[in-house]
Amino acid sequence: MSGNRTFTMIKPDASEKNFCGAILKQIQEAGFKIIALKQTRMSLKQANDFYQIHSERPFYNDLCSFMSSGTIIPAILEKENAVEEFRKLIGATNPANAEAGTIRKNYAESIDKNAIHGSDSDENAKIEGNFFFTESEKF
Ligand code: ADP
Ligand code: MG
Repeated sequence: MSGNRTFTMIKPDASEKNFCGAILKQIQEAGFKIIALKQTRMSLKQANDFYQIHSERPFYNDLCSFMSSGTIIPAILEKENAVEEFRKLIGATNPANAEAGTIRKNYAESIDKNAIHGSDSDENAKIEGNFFFTESEKF
C-alpha cells in the first residue's frame, strides 16, 4: 500500500519571484494538508547531502549551487497516495513537457529552475522530510 505523505520544496527561482503563496494555495486546493512548513536556505554542503542520490549526474554541481543560492520552502504534505498524486500536481521535470495546469507549467522557467521538488517514493519522502524537520515540527 502506498503511503499518505510526501515531501516538497519550493525552489529558489519560485521563491525569488514571490510565487510561494500561489503555489501553496494550489497545493492546498488540490487536497494536500500541510504537516510541516518553513522558510530556510541550504548551505552548499546541505544541498550536496540532500542531492547525494544525483552525485554522478552531470548537472549535480549546478543543481547544488542553484539550490543553495536563495531561500527555499520545504514542507511535508499529507494526502492519500501522496507521492504519486503530488508528482502529478507538479508535472514533468522539464516545464516544457509539463501538462497544462501543473505547478511546473504554471511557475517554472526551465529544467534546472523548475520551481518545485517532489519526492519520488515513500522511502525518499520520509528521508527528505526528516532532513528538514524534527518530530516536534510535524503536526
Ligand atoms: P525531478 O525533480 O522531477 O524528480 P530529477 O530527480 O531527475 O527530477 O532531478 C532532480 C532535479 O535536478 C530536477 O528537479 C532539476 O532541478 C535538476 N535536473 C534534472 N535533470 C536536469 C538536466 N538535464 N539539466 C539540468 N538540471 C536537471
Ligand atoms: Mg527526483
